Amino acid sequence: MCWKKKLLSAVTAAMFCVSLTVNVPTVQASGSGLIGSVAGTLLKGAAMRSEVRKIVKEVNNTPQGQAAIYQKLSEKYGVDESPENKELLDKIMSTLTKGVAAVDPTINNMPYKYFVAAQDDLNAACAMAHVMMVNRGTFKALPNEDEIAAIVGHEMGHGQKNHGVKSLEKQVNNQITSGLLGAALGGGMLSSKIADIAVTHTSAHKDKKFESEADSLSMDYLVNTPYNIGATAAVMQRFVEMSIGKESSKLTAFFRPSDHPDSARRRDACAKKLFEYSGKHAQAKDGVVTVNKKTFMKPVAAENMSGAERSYFVLGNLARAYHDGQNKNEATVKNGSVMLGNQIIVTPADGDEDAQVLADRLNEIK
Ligand SMILES: [Zn+2]
Repeated sequence: MCWKKKLLSAVTAAMFCVSLTVNVPTVQASGSGLIGSVAGTLLKGAAMRSEVRKIVKEVNNTPQGQAAIYQKLSEKYGVDESPENKELLDKIMSTLTKGVAAVDPTINNMPYKYFVAAQDDLNAACAMAHVMMVNRGTFKALPNEDEIAAIVGHEMGHGQKNHGVKSLEKQVNNQITSGLLGAALGGGMLSSKIADIAVTHTSAHKDKKFESEADSLSMDYLVNTPYNIGATAAVMQRFVEMSIGKESSKLTAFFRPSDHPDSARRRDACAKKLFEYSGKHAQAKDGVVTVNKKTFMKPVAAENMSGAERSYFVLGNLARAYHDGQNKNEATVKNGSVMLGNQIIVTPADGDEDAQVLADRLNEIK
């Protein structure tokens, strides 16, 4: 196999995921020598940089690259055969693909290839070439479809903006600059070096800029779907709570919930975006939903969510209602739910205030 092919396979094996996982399994470098085994070939600096870039681009932008990454990922993590999970992910992907296309039509050039991974931790990952996987543990751990969609939307944000590739190339370039890769050439260690870089780079989730951008994009995509646009903030709230709960050691990895301040910061950034989207009318903080700075409600824990988590769903509905001009209409009660115009705001659970009380209050303060 020529060195180029070997490097390509190493690159593919390394997967370049923008994974949410912290405990990244060690990636085994395939084969023995790479460049080092190429008879007499020694690439350095700029030449190497351009070769790596070429290979990465080829993997990232072609159906062949996509198929190769898909195969590697699905072999490594296994495919969950549950028809329920698959059906749900199919539905979320087709709904979100339209949501993405509304703001970023480039998705049509390379639709995502995805699967439910046979992994029990709450996690998801977007690899190069628009290959995505969502762990079956995610379906189990999250309370509703909207929150799963928020996570998938976050991953698609990474995919649409090529965060994985950018982060990888940056690290490869750093290593070339520092001479690490150059030095590795002679030792035939390039494949493992690249794998190391790719593994390290899965902590791209440490890149706050990329994370914030993916969160924000998740909401931009959700806006163009029937999903609740507060779901991204709600899932962050869930991670905040998971990180301080007793299960935290298991919790997965997703969005680094062990990093409590970070999840809280990201939740607040999402809430701020919802506030802006509502035309600065609706907010949620510490479990209390306000409209025009006056208290609307403090939801109780229900539907397998905390009160605070639910508050972001109420906020999402209010934000959409205000954005769409539904606030010009009266708040009413329909089938047990508080409505603003034709936008549902909240369906009170046991322990919440009565729907009519809430509708009357909303009319006073909206
Ligand atoms: Zn991320």
